[in-house]
Amino acid sequence: MKYALGVDIGGTKTSLTLGNSHGKVLAKKILPTLTGRRTLEGIKQMSEGLLCLQSDCPAGRTIQGVGVGVPGPMNPKTGRVERSPHLAGWEGFPLKSFLERKLKRPVWITNDANAAAVGEKAFGAGRGVKNFVYLTISTGIGGGMVLGGKLLIGSSFGAGEVGHTIVVPGGARCGCGHLGCLEAYASGTAIAGFVRSEIRRGKKSKVSRWVGSGRRITA
Ligand SMILES: [Zn+2]
Repeated sequence: MKYALGVDIGGTKTSLTLGNSHGKVLAKKILPTLTGRRTLEGIKQMSEGLLCLQSDCPAGRTIQGVGVGVPGPMNPKTGRVERSPHLAGWEGFPLKSFLERKLKRPVWITNDANAAAVGEKAFGAGRGVKNFVYLTISTGIGGGMVLGGKLLIGSSFGAGEVGHTIVVPGGARCGCGHLGCLEAYASGTAIAGFVRSEIRRGKKSKVSRWVGSGRRITA
């Protein structure tokens, strides 16, 4: 049995886990994601949290490594956060070398949707599948592509980011600044926004009956 630490950095919270090679989560910790001037403080808290989880590893076993998922394109070679609209203050931070120094374990960092694709390949719907696309539909649309059994990274680390494929030329404004991205139409945020505006325009819908008036409509 092998053991590893996992980190999922989200826009508001960061999840830390200790898991084994059977995909079992043995311990978990949730921290707030700190940005801006508190970025370094947050990253230090994260590495301390991971050190703390290490102590839950069965006696005599070592942690093989640490996998980190970051919301935004990630250069796996430099281990620096390239750019992330959700993580102000993190751009250029050498996350990989920082964590390797603190934890004394190898660290792999990738975009969160890519990390989820790797997770599905190991333990989920992608098991035994050589070629597939993973999609996550939430606030935005994230994606990861596995081709020939390997994760596709892309020359600018954005492979699989299908959410920003333009599906309606000159269409609705996306959070990335472009017009007509898939994310502007089919993300959880966009679906709820579309339904709200249609109901406001007087369209009859079961949704208003289900959620009543004044309650927030979500995807
Ligand atoms: Zn976009």
